[in-house]
Amino acid sequence: MDAEEFRSAGKEMVDYIADYLENVRERPVVSAVEPGYLKKLIPDAVPEDSDKWEDVYKDIEKVIMPGVTHWQHPNFHAYYLSASSYPAILGDMLSDGIGCLGFSWKTSPACTELEVAMMDWLGKLLQLPEEFLSGGKGGGVIQGTASGSSLVSLFAARSRILQKKKAENPDLEDSDIIKNLVAYTPDEAHTSAEKACLLGGVKCHVVPTDDEESMRGEALAKAIEEDKAKGLIPFLVIATLGTTPTCAFDNLLEIGPVCQREGAWLHVDAAYAGAAFICPEFRHWLNGVEFSDSSNFNPHKWLLVNFDCAGLWFKDASYLVDPFNMEPVYLRHEHHGKVPDLRHWQIPFGRRFRSMKLWFVLRMFGVKKLQEHIRKMVQLAHDFEDLVKSDSRFEVTHKVTMGLVCFALKNQSNEVNEKLLKSLTKDGRIYLVGCKSKGRYFLRFAICGNQTTTDDIKFAWKLISETAEKVLDS
Ligand code: PLP
Repeated sequence: MDAEEFRSAGKEMVDYIADYLENVRERPVVSAVEPGYLKKLIPDAVPEDSDKWEDVYKDIEKVIMPGVTHWQHPNFHAYYLSASSYPAILGDMLSDGIGCLGFSWKTSPACTELEVAMMDWLGKLLQLPEEFLSGGKGGGVIQGTASGSSLVSLFAARSRILQKKKAENPDLEDSDIIKNLVAYTPDEAHTSAEKACLLGGVKCHVVPTDDEESMRGEALAKAIEEDKAKGLIPFLVIATLGTTPTCAFDNLLEIGPVCQREGAWLHVDAAYAGAAFICPEFRHWLNGVEFSDSSNFNPHKWLLVNFDCAGLWFKDASYLVDPFNMEPVYLRHEHHGKVPDLRHWQIPFGRRFRSMKLWFVLRMFGVKKLQEHIRKMVQLAHDFEDLVKSDSRFEVTHKVTMGLVCFALKNQSNEVNEKLLKSLTKDGRIYLVGCKSKGRYFLRFAICGNQTTTDDIKFAWKLISETAEKVLDS
C-alpha cells in the first residue's frame, strides 16, 4: 500500500468507523458465535501473495463483525464502560502514523512532554495535591491498565520498605525482608489487586468490608495488628474508589492515617469512578487522596479516551524510577537526568504516544462537556434505579453512587436471580452481567454507551420486567 492507496483506504476506513458507530444500535449487542467460528472463515496460513485492500475490507463484515460484542451499543450494560470518542480515535490515528517509541525523552520529546503535561492537566482537574504534579519528586504517567498501575505501585512500595529496613539493618538481604512483606486489599477489590501481590511475590491480606462494601480504618488496623504479631511487615494498602462489583468506596479518610502510622504505602485504585471526580459534586469521594502515595484512574473507562489510557500519579516516583534503573550506553542522551525517561515509570520498555488521544479529548470536549457526559450517565443510572424501585418484585441491592445500578428479585434465591440473568443473556437484546457480594447474587446494570438514552433505559427495564415474569412463573 503506497501513500495514495492509503489516502483512499484511510478515508474508506474512517467512513466505515463513523457508519459503524452511528448505526451500532442496529446490530445485536452480544456476539452469538460459537468458539472456533473464525478459524473456519480464514485460510490456515499467511497468503503467499498479497491480498488486496478491497478483499481485506470486505472481510471486516464477514469475518470480524459476527464475533464482535458491541461495547459502544446503547444496550451494552455489562462490566464498566470502555470509552470511545471521535477525537480519541483521531489521536490514536496520528499516534500510529508517527509510530514512535517514547522510551526516552530523546526518542520523541513531544511524546514525553505531552504526557507529563496531560497528566498535570488531569491531576489539576481532579484537584490532586500539588506533590502529584510534575516539577518535584512526583508526577503522572500513562500506563496501559489499572492492573499494571497496581503492580508498578507495589514495586515502588516494595522498594521503599526495602530501603527503610536495610537502613535500619544493613545485614539484611532483600529476600529476608520480602518473605515477610504483606499487602492489604478489601474483599471487594478488583482481582488485579491480589494478582499484583501474586506477581510481586508478597502476601496479601484480604480485609473484610463493612455493610456498605467499604474498607474501614478499624478493620485495616486490626488486620495489620494481627500480621505484626506474626512478625510480618505491612508495607502496602491497595484501596478502591468505585469497586467493580457495586461501585462502593473505601474510606480513605480513615485508612490514610492508619497507613501513615504504620509506614505503609497507600495506592488508590479509582479505575472507573475516578473520572467522575472532575465534577465538584463527586470530588468528595476522593477526599483522603492526600494520604496516598500513588493513585490511578482510567480515562479509557469513563473519560471518552479509547483504550488504553490509565493515569497513574506518584507523590515520589523515585521509589519506582531509581531501584529499577538500567542505563546501557545506547540509551544515553545529552539531557539525561534533566528530563524524565518514562520507560523507568513502567514495566515494558517501549511506549506508545498515548497522550495524543488524551490531549485531543481534553481540548475538544473541554471541562464542561466532560462533566456533562459524566452527569448524564449518572442521571441515567438514577432513572433506571427509579424504575427498579417502582416494581415491588425487585429491589436495588446497593447504593447507587455513579453509573451502576445493582438489583435483584426481592426475596428470591441466588438461583432464581441467576436464572433471570441467563434468560436475559439468551434473549440477547441487552447485555448485563451478574455479580456476588457477601454471598448475595445480583445483576449489575451499568450505563456504558455514549448513545444510551432514557428510551434505551426504559426498553431495558421493560425487557427485564417481562423476563422476570416468565422466570417467576416457571
Ligand atoms: N480496578 C477496578 C476498580 C476495576 O473496576 C477494573 C476493571 O473494571 C480494574 C481495576 C481493571 O482494569 P484494567 O483493565 O485497566 O486493568
